[in-house]
Amino acid sequence: MPDTPTTLVRRTAFPQGRSRAVATPIHPTVVWAADSPDQLDNIYENPGSGYTYAREAHPNAEMLAAKIDMLEGATGGLITGSGMAAVTAALLGCLRAGDHVLGGDQLYGRSLRLMAETLPAMGMETSLADPTDAGAFARGIRPNTRAILIETVSNPTLRVADLDGIAAVAQARGIPLLVDSTFSTPRGIRPFDHGADIVIHSVTKLLAGHSDVTLGYVVARDPARMTAIRTLAVTMGLTPSPFDCWLAERGIYTFNLRYDRAEENARKLADHIAGLPGVKRVLYPTRPDHPDHNRAISLLGERGGNMLSFELHGGRAAANALTLAMPDVAFAPTLGDVGTTLSHPPSSSHRALTPENRANLGISEGFFRVSVGVEEIELLISDFTAGIAAAAKA
Ligand SMILES: *Cc1c(COP(=O)(O)O)cnc(C)c1O
Repeated sequence: MPDTPTTLVRRTAFPQGRSRAVATPIHPTVVWAADSPDQLDNIYENPGSGYTYAREAHPNAEMLAAKIDMLEGATGGLITGSGMAAVTAALLGCLRAGDHVLGGDQLYGRSLRLMAETLPAMGMETSLADPTDAGAFARGIRPNTRAILIETVSNPTLRVADLDGIAAVAQARGIPLLVDSTFSTPRGIRPFDHGADIVIHSVTKLLAGHSDVTLGYVVARDPARMTAIRTLAVTMGLTPSPFDCWLAERGIYTFNLRYDRAEENARKLADHIAGLPGVKRVLYPTRPDHPDHNRAISLLGERGGNMLSFELHGGRAAANALTLAMPDVAFAPTLGDVGTTLSHPPSSSHRALTPENRANLGISEGFFRVSVGVEEIELLISDFTAGIAAAAKA
């Protein structure tokens, strides 16, 4: 039992040390009390030795970061309030006004917007290059290039970056390589093993896995750079809520199981869809007909991931018929949920592109992206068979 209270206002001491909770406790406290000015001094002088204020650090974020550190083979990672907060903290931790950043030309939509609008407004130069071509990255480097940002597997055409080639370019010029590894997850690839300097995740997606929290993660190999990123994130308030971290930690317990099952489902579903009438092409990185098949195999092994895309012969009418014919699969522009979700890039994530730009990327009105979940494969096969049959009739 707690000590007998004498007022409603003063906190009653938690009965520590009597029993051990199995589930991680949530620490919603914003501030931490110190025993003395000397103790507080000591905490400020030795970061990590205690807590002061929740924006700086708190136990739920640290417990979650430690789990993702373990998956990435990293130490000292930081949890941020969203994946975009992690991208922002990583970039601003490397850049000053006047610097240039070179990015992949198929980055996540908001990252492209950061490159196109936000960073230039802050006095930074940006440009993009095709990440399947390391030569294009070598040619894109400028004297003031201070960061390179890529994703290993692109959205939504699932092109596989020449990670090793770009890492060699970055290393030769001493430019930090930032890899947003959200699509691949640490189960698909560990970018530190391929020369990355900074690894970024949207924890919102597969790592947390239940579409009930937005969070991010960033870790730098170099401790000095990590300190710069952490300081920036704390100063700009990019750090997360304890409740969100707790939810994500709860989700991450089953990450390996969910990922393996979703990946197996995706591989089988891709092969099934490829054989259906009305389907023009299927994109799945480890399939032999994928444009980057060889690189996918050498970089990812058999780990093709849970994402697949496909294109119908028909246009918008066929696309509408498909979504209406499979109401049990959530039609939602996200990914990484425990259940399968279906998105239509031309009307959502890639709607801001001109039809010509979309055509260049191969994103027609009949293009769909699927984030495959952990359902029974028979159910997925019957849903997609029905949807694609309805599209073929439209
Ligand atoms: C979703 C996503 C992000 C952004 O993450 P949020 O948690 O939504 O802010 C960044 N990069 C990639 C590759 C993503 O899929």
